Amino acid sequence: MLKIDELKVRYGGIEAVKGITFEVPERKIVTLIGANGAGKSTTLRTIAGLVKPAHGRIHLQGEDITALSPDRIVSKGITLVPEGRHVFPDLTVLENLKIGAYLRRDSLDDDLNWVYELFPRLKERSWQAAGTLSGGEQQMLAVGRALMSRPKIIMMDEPSLGLAPIVVKGIFDIIKEINRQGVTVLLIEQNANMALRIADVAYVLETGKLTLSGSGKELLNNEQVKKAYLG
Ligand code: ATP
Repeated sequence: MLKIDELKVRYGGIEAVKGITFEVPERKIVTLIGANGAGKSTTLRTIAGLVKPAHGRIHLQGEDITALSPDRIVSKGITLVPEGRHVFPDLTVLENLKIGAYLRRDSLDDDLNWVYELFPRLKERSWQAAGTLSGGEQQMLAVGRALMSRPKIIMMDEPSLGLAPIVVKGIFDIIKEINRQGVTVLLIEQNANMALRIADVAYVLETGKLTLSGSGKELLNNEQVKKAYLG
């Protein structure tokens, strides 16, 4: 569904992503794991059109989307849940969700109902200011807002960051459920253990290069991965 070919990304003189090639098959959960600074966020931000690559192409269902603007990429069906959630703190939960659908002109009712079914907590709190939600609730809101654009592919940057283990489990259950309902997932995580458990396909990114790939299960049992990422 999504194909990344020979992608290179530079910030000034520094090459953060050094020619990576990988695929995200339709309806699968794909994860990129790797240490701090390996280039995971840069990869997602480049797919989202927020950073332009120095080299390489990105295709969605056969269409070259490399040069498209971020909002065109959202309208093609790829959305990013950024690290740190970035909800609008002074707006209500409902207002934040509506912003996720800003590129659409059709009725939002079905999608709002869908998001509220996935996250009953957000429904209960739809009039609450987003800034007063707990960390886990803000993460739910960030995911819910992304779903309001009706994506084919949802990309998530460290959804478990800073959350308590029980809350993390809830977020991963939701990721599985969203996927079960047909949305393709590209996930990056430092919590490699959780990510590999739910991933159909996994890649290890080390200083800008892909060094290993396999099913989530294979990488969970890989000695190198165990030593470096599963502590
Ligand atoms: P983390 O989990 O810490 O976010 P990451 O694997 O997502 O790590 P990136 O954030 O993609 O890694 O960073 C890759 C490299 O690019 C790092 O060396 C980082 O310092 C550098 N980098 C990232 N963003 C910028 C930027 N806007 N300007 C300059 N260098 C950057």
